Amino acid sequence: MVKAIVFDSVEAPGAIRVGSQEEAKKKARQIVLNNNDKVILVGTGAWNLYSELAREMRINAENYYLLEAIDPREAELAGISWGRLLLSRIAYTARRPAEEAFSELGGAEKRVTRRALLRGTVIGTAMEYTERPIEDVTLCRHPAVEKYCEECLSVCNISGGCPVSAAICGIELLYLPGYTRSGLRDALRSIVPLGKPGYALIVPRSSIAALLESINKTKAPVVIVPVSCPYVIGLEELLALHAVGLQPVIIEAGWEREVKRCRESRAPYKDMVESDYVKVTSLRLLHSLDEVKVLIKGEPRVYSINNPSQYLSRGLRPLALAVLKKLGIAADLSTGFSSVLKIDTEKCTLCGACAYECPANALVVKEASDVSALLFLHDRCIACGYCEEICPENALSVSKAVNANLINTWTPLVLKESLRCIVCGEPLGAAAMIEKTIERLILKGHHPEKMPQLLMCESCKQKYSLGMISDDQVDYETLYRVVNRVRRRLGLSPLEPPRRKRQNSS
Ligand code: SF4
Ligand code: SF4
Repeated sequence: MVKAIVFDSVEAPGAIRVGSQEEAKKKARQIVLNNNDKVILVGTGAWNLYSELAREMRINAENYYLLEAIDPREAELAGISWGRLLLSRIAYTARRPAEEAFSELGGAEKRVTRRALLRGTVIGTAMEYTERPIEDVTLCRHPAVEKYCEECLSVCNISGGCPVSAAICGIELLYLPGYTRSGLRDALRSIVPLGKPGYALIVPRSSIAALLESINKTKAPVVIVPVSCPYVIGLEELLALHAVGLQPVIIEAGWEREVKRCRESRAPYKDMVESDYVKVTSLRLLHSLDEVKVLIKGEPRVYSINNPSQYLSRGLRPLALAVLKKLGIAADLSTGFSSVLKIDTEKCTLCGACAYECPANALVVKEASDVSALLFLHDRCIACGYCEEICPENALSVSKAVNANLINTWTPLVLKESLRCIVCGEPLGAAAMIEKTIERLILKGHHPEKMPQLLMCESCKQKYSLGMISDDQVDYETLYRVVNRVRRRLGLSPLEPPRRKRQNSS
């Protein structure tokens, strides 16, 4: 639950009203400690108050992630009504997974499967990362996790990664106490449309008070996006902000003094995001407050899209994709926004393992009449590379890239003949996969006549083993045709099917 505490005369319906900032601090701390509820401090100077209280709570090992703030000056900067901005901040705060900031779930002895993870189990979150990045790898490189894409780990050069890295997880499997993509989505939903193009200043919470003191009047709207760490923002967020008419600006001021080691560790990822952003938008990503002060006197440069609200209900990714489509970009990337898959169609047996394991449902095997196909949806792929790793035939390779031509289209990667049940004619699956099994059996010296079930659907297979289907109902000609195709490939002579009179399966 989110509770607002207002300490000055600003309108805040439903908020707890107190007489002074000191009282607001006391009340906020009480609510956090007693109820584990989130608290938004509301009033002029709220970010100063936030910084003081967060510092005190951090020293006392209390969950300061449950704190948030909003200052009426933010509404003036954004050029929108105070009510809309307040709603937006409430939505953002509600989504922050801050309650878990102190917990470490799924202890090392508990077996956590990748599948369970993909259903949303949290490996662990940590509160201390702002002072002490996690060196104990058991948090991220959880020993009980069978498989993981490692994208989060690959962007952090502290051994094993820190929980900050979790924010880049493409499917929001892992998340930060201070930020989620869905939180930003909800916040934007409350303020879009803005009326005219503006700037989104992504600012560490600890630096917002200073920022509000240093800028007052701006020509274009300025929306403040509070984050715990400015490096959690990836290409998806940056493009989504463009889509809604906001040129993104990441402000590091204040942050670098606070967490030197985190900053150093995140530098490679920051550089990767930045180079991807420049590649895609041809715009520079600004960081310093001085640069920002100059910039916001001018006109923002944005790649907005029509009616962004219709995409917002589905998340930030559709917005980012719409921008890419608009720009018509095809480029290799350093970060894992999406990928282009290359496949060796000869090697692929259409076994479907990649589609089964893909965490983003970007791959699917489809059967249509006598054809099986492996289809790929660029929009969903998060370039985790897991399909490449899992493919038993080494047929796939994943390159981090975006390609506007692939957006909104299921692209066929492989098309192959599929087989039907030799009793009832139901589609069975890709011939290549079944032939692979037949090949193994032949090499072990088995005779095809002994294995008609290989070409039967589940139902006919059961009936056949119970004796409910006689040999006369089985299409042995097709079985021998498939078997002989494999034998020829193996350099063996074809077998002659025995003469049988086949009856109708009905
Ligand atoms: S690419 Fe590999 S895992 Fe995917 S269907 Fe083909 S053979 Fe199976
Ligand atoms: S298609 Fe491959 S790289 Fe893309 S999300 Fe699925 S498993 Fe990961």
